[in-house]
Amino acid sequence: MTHNILIIGAGIIGSALAYRLGQAGCKVTLLDPSTNGGTASAASFGWVNASYENPKPYYHLRRHAMDAWTRLLPDLPDLPYSQNGTLYADFYGVPLDTLFDEHTPWGYPFEWVSPDQIATLEPNLKDVPDRALFCGIEAQVLPNAAARVFANSAQNTTHIPASATKLLTKGGAIIGAQTPDGPIFADTTILAAGTHTTTLAATIDITVPLNSPAGLLIHTKPAPQLISHTILTDGLHMQQRPDGTITAGGDFGGGSINDDPETGSRELFSRLQNALKTDALEFSHYTLGLRPTPADGMPIVGNPTNGLYISVMHSGATLAPGIAELVTAELTAGHRDALLNTFHPNRFDAD
Ligand SMILES: Cc1cc2nc3c(=O)[nH]c(=O)nc-3n(C[C@H](O)[C@H](O)[C@H](O)COP(=O)(O)OP(=O)(O)OC[C@H]3O[C@@H](n4cnc5c(N)ncnc54)[C@H](O)[C@@H]3O)c2cc1C
Repeated sequence: MTHNILIIGAGIIGSALAYRLGQAGCKVTLLDPSTNGGTASAASFGWVNASYENPKPYYHLRRHAMDAWTRLLPDLPDLPYSQNGTLYADFYGVPLDTLFDEHTPWGYPFEWVSPDQIATLEPNLKDVPDRALFCGIEAQVLPNAAARVFANSAQNTTHIPASATKLLTKGGAIIGAQTPDGPIFADTTILAAGTHTTTLAATIDITVPLNSPAGLLIHTKPAPQLISHTILTDGLHMQQRPDGTITAGGDFGGGSINDDPETGSRELFSRLQNALKTDALEFSHYTLGLRPTPADGMPIVGNPTNGLYISVMHSGATLAPGIAELVTAELTAGHRDALLNTFHPNRFDAD
């Protein structure tokens, strides 16, 4: 029997799910009033990595997801994804030795690079440290553009441009969602609405504890090729996108730079100008997005009650394709991969 699935939210998480579930033969309805490819996804730095905030199970999930990106490329060559690696000159107060010592025993391919190698990797970096870390398997993605590629390529998928106003229940099970145009029924309803997941889950008295710290990024006007990798330096992370614009941020989890975006963006632009050997940079604009971050920082992925599945997380730019593979296996073959063990929503039940 065909599995009817309603996905609420067409950001990078919901769209990647639609792509994999549709491919697996499910009949998918993708519900979102916007066709922009997400909200947080459109304001994201899009750095694909497995080095950020990493208890071991989370590391393994992120590594699986990094590999899942490369598994997608043969079928979706238009994905705005580039595996160009990261240069770590600094990592927001985490000593590089700690980063190296924690991750290399797990097989993460960090390598130390010398000042000469740093200058070869990034000739326009003004301050060349005594040493840095390089990780060649990390990548950059444009998350909302990738979401649109997933959604537009999803088989067996109907897009409905509307908002879910509440979840619908019958006999203790979730049977779909209400929209202003009427109900949509499904065997499984997936909540992938980013920061709005909490509000929708609350309509059936399920608590999804999210913090949503703001994240400020600045964007320059297109510049000549200045940066080849993602670069992390003191108080700044930056990358140059395919259109030549440079995107830079000053924290990875909320911080004072976000409190006053006008001042914060000027401060970030000045840090960027100080970091690079060029006078060709022109400020374009800033973006301020909310990161859908679960209360304990870890993804929330699983079915809290019959007929409902929740998929909400920070680092969705990294995780989306891996999550889509694992959730598809769980919903179509009944196999919940051990990689997801730590991330079930029921871990909050006792709170
Ligand atoms: C500044 C910033 C920097 C980041 N940097 C990185 C990074 O470098 N690497 C990384 O891996 N991650 C990063 N992230 C996190 C990552 O971008 C997010 O985890 C990811 O985009 C979340 O995707 P999503 O699909 O869950 O949510 P969203 O992109 O927010 O999409 C949710 C969708 O749900 C829809 N929706 C909401 N309510 C309803 C409703 N009632 N009915 C129907 N649809 C609804 C919205 O319209 C939206 O399209 C960053 C985030 C931010 C903000």
